[in-house]
Amino acid sequence: MERITGKGVSGGIAIGKISIYKRSDNEVKKVFKDNSKEEIKRFSDSRQTAKEELDTLYDKALREVGRENAAIFEVHKMMIDDFDYIESVENIINTQKVNAEYAVARTSDKFYEMFQNMEDEYMKARAADIKDISDRLIRVLGNCNELCQNIRQSVIVAAEDLSPSETVSMDKNKVLAFVTKYGSSNSHTAILAKMMNIPALTNVNYGDIDGKTAIVDGYQGLLIVEPHEEELEKYIKKQEEEKSRLTLLKELKGRENITSDGRKIDIYANIGGVQDIEMTLENDAGGIGLFRSEFLYLGNNDYPTEEEQFNAYKTVAENMADKSVIIRTLDIGADKRIGYFNLKEEDNPAMGLRAIRICLKRKDIFKTQLRAILRASAYGNISIMYPMIISLEEIREIKKIAEEVKDELKAENIPYKDVKQGIMIETPAAVMISEELGREVDFFSIGTNDLTQYTLAIDRQNDDLSDFYNPHHPAVLKMIKMVVENGHKTGCLVGICGELAADTTLTKEFVDMGVDELSVSPSFVLKVREAVRNI
Ligand code: PEP
Ligand code: MG
Repeated sequence: MERITGKGVSGGIAIGKISIYKRSDNEVKKVFKDNSKEEIKRFSDSRQTAKEELDTLYDKALREVGRENAAIFEVHKMMIDDFDYIESVENIINTQKVNAEYAVARTSDKFYEMFQNMEDEYMKARAADIKDISDRLIRVLGNCNELCQNIRQSVIVAAEDLSPSETVSMDKNKVLAFVTKYGSSNSHTAILAKMMNIPALTNVNYGDIDGKTAIVDGYQGLLIVEPHEEELEKYIKKQEEEKSRLTLLKELKGRENITSDGRKIDIYANIGGVQDIEMTLENDAGGIGLFRSEFLYLGNNDYPTEEEQFNAYKTVAENMADKSVIIRTLDIGADKRIGYFNLKEEDNPAMGLRAIRICLKRKDIFKTQLRAILRASAYGNISIMYPMIISLEEIREIKKIAEEVKDELKAENIPYKDVKQGIMIETPAAVMISEELGREVDFFSIGTNDLTQYTLAIDRQNDDLSDFYNPHHPAVLKMIKMVVENGHKTGCLVGICGELAADTTLTKEFVDMGVDELSVSPSFVLKVREAVRNI
C-alpha cells in the first residue's frame, strides 16, 4: 500500500483501477517548406476546423457542466483568433520557411512560457489553455479528426496534466476520478471536475501506478495505491454512506418545502459570485437570498467597474430566470478588509466604518454599484438589500440615492426595473425599530451572524470566545420572533440569511415563528428542505 498526498480540488471518494491517460503522439517535426503561402493557408484552414470542433465541445459542455463552465471553449475560440498568436505563427512560417505545425508548436511554447511567468494565478492557469488550442491546431493540421479518448471502462484517470478540452471530452460515466501531477485549483480542469461531480486531485507525484487499484479521497487530497483490505473496507463503507445520503437528498429535488400540515417556506441560496450559480441550480434552490457582492471587490486589485459588476449581476439574474435574486450591497470592513479602500486602522473594526456606513460616506462607490444592480434588474428578478442598518435616517437617505440613480438611468434611456428594496436586520437597533423600518422597505433578511455578535457582545471572529458565542441564545431567538412579527405587521416578507438558517435543529421553530424564507449555502438547501418536510 502506498499513500500519496496531493491537493483535493474536487470532493468525493472513488475506488477503482488507474489508467494513465496518454495523448496521441503530438511530436512535431520541423520540415522545410518553400511555399509559405500554402502553409499559411493550411494554418488558416486548421483554425476554421478547430473552431468548428470547439462549437461541438461547447454544446457538450453546456449540457453537462452549464453555461459558465462551457464558456472556456468560447475563450479558446477567441484565443485561436488572437492577433498576436496568428502573427507569431505566420512570422515563423514566413521567416524560417517551415511547416505550419512547427510554427504553431514554437508559438505555443513562447506564449505558454509567457503565461506561466505571470504573477496572477488566474493568468498563470491560462498557460494550459494556450497548450490546449495549439495541440488542437497541430492535430487538425495532421488530419487527425478524433480527439484522443483512450479511456477504458470506469477508471481513475491519471495524467501529468489535463486540458479543459480533454477533461470535458471524456465520457463522465467512465471516469471515476482525475489525478494529475500538475494543475492549480484555479484551473478550469479543476472547476470542470467539480461541476461534473468527479473527485479530483492535483499535485500528486505518482510513479508507476498504471493498472493498479487505488482509492481517491478528494476531501483529504489522498491517493492510496493498492490499499490494504482494511483500508479498502473503510473507504467502501464511506462511499456507500455518501451515496445513500446523496440519493436520499436528491429525491427531494423538485419537491416543495412544505410541512406535513401544509405550511410552506422558501429555501434560497447564499452565493458569493457567478461561480456559485451551478451549485445553486443543482441543489434546486428557489432563489438567491443573499448575494454577498463584496466578493466582487475582494477578488479585485481595484474597485470593480460598473460594467464588471453589471455583467456579474446580469449573469446571475439571467441564470436564475424568474427566480428571486437578492443582491446585498457592499458589506466590507470588520473582517473583510480591502487594501485599495485605504480604510484607517480601527480599535474596534466590527463596530467601525463598515458596510452601509462606507457606502454613505463614499457615495461614488455606492452609486456605481446601484447603477450596475439597477441595470441588471432589467434581465431578471432582482431585489436590493442593504447591510448593517441601524436607523430610519439611513434608509431614507439610501432610498433618495437610489432614486437619483434611477433618474440618471432614465435620462440616459437605460432600462431598469422598480426593484424591491430590503434591509438586513443584524443589529439590535434594527430589531428594536423593525416596525418603523418595515414601513420604509419591502423585506427583511435577518443576519444572525452579526446579530448574535452584537447582541451578545462577542466578537464572531475570536476563536477563544467560541464557547460563549451562542446563536441559540434566547435573546437572539426572541429577536428573530420580534422581527418576524413586526415585519408581517407592516407587509414585509422576513427571511434569515445568517448561518442559523441552515441549523436544522431550529427549522421547526422558524417555521412556527412564520419566517418566510431561509437562505443557506447551496449544499444545505436539500438538507433544510428535508427538515421542513419532516415537520
Ligand atoms: C450575517 O451577519 O448573518 C450575514 C449573513 O452577513 P455576513 O455573514 O456576510 O456578515
Ligand atoms: Mg452580516
